[in-house]
Amino acid sequence: MMNIILFGPPGSGKGTQAQMLKDRFNLLHVSTGDIFRNEIANGTPLGMEAKTFMDRGHLVPDELTIRLLDGFVEANSTPATEGIIFDGFPRTVPQAIALDEFMEKRNSPVMVVLSLMVDEEEVVKRLISRGLTSNRIDDANEEIVRNRLKVYYTQTAPLAEFYRNQKKLISLNGKGTIEEVFEHLCVEIFKLSE
Ligand code: ADP
Repeated sequence: MMNIILFGPPGSGKGTQAQMLKDRFNLLHVSTGDIFRNEIANGTPLGMEAKTFMDRGHLVPDELTIRLLDGFVEANSTPATEGIIFDGFPRTVPQAIALDEFMEKRNSPVMVVLSLMVDEEEVVKRLISRGLTSNRIDDANEEIVRNRLKVYYTQTAPLAEFYRNQKKLISLNGKGTIEEVFEHLCVEIFKLSE
């Protein structure tokens, strides 16, 4: 199974690339952000709870996030799926540990963590400009965007070390065009199946 984590700050292009990779490699796309937004749109209790954290640019608590992941993967995996692409998950060390346990139970470990490197000023620019057209509250205001980046650098960036120790981390330049970044990601994924 081709299980891949896309890693990088908010605005690094994970969502866009995950969508394209999912189609190219026949993967199940797991975006915890999208799943939360979907729960919010459906007005579920889980969504309502998540919203209070998301709108402020904070992380949703690990326990809630892990529960959501389990349910989503169980409900959406099909025999035809050739792997999972994780986008925006894990975001904390406890989530990464929970993911390892979850994948071990499924006998299908994470193969690689592809990290998109984009500098802070560039991601702020991208998120603010996305905020002009999307109706995401967390993109609308520079202070919330900066807060999400602070959360990223303090809570999520340390995961790079976690996966480097597992010898799974590959860093890529995330600053080219969408197609250029996609080609670089594909090259790394093709290497896995050699
Ligand atoms: P982006 O990558 O642009 O920040 P996402 O759609 O991945 O956007 O996430 C939006 C928000 O959803 C995050 O700021 C956070 O509040 C919440 N969220 C998404 N994934 C997680 C996660 N794995 N753990 C905790 N909170 C999460």
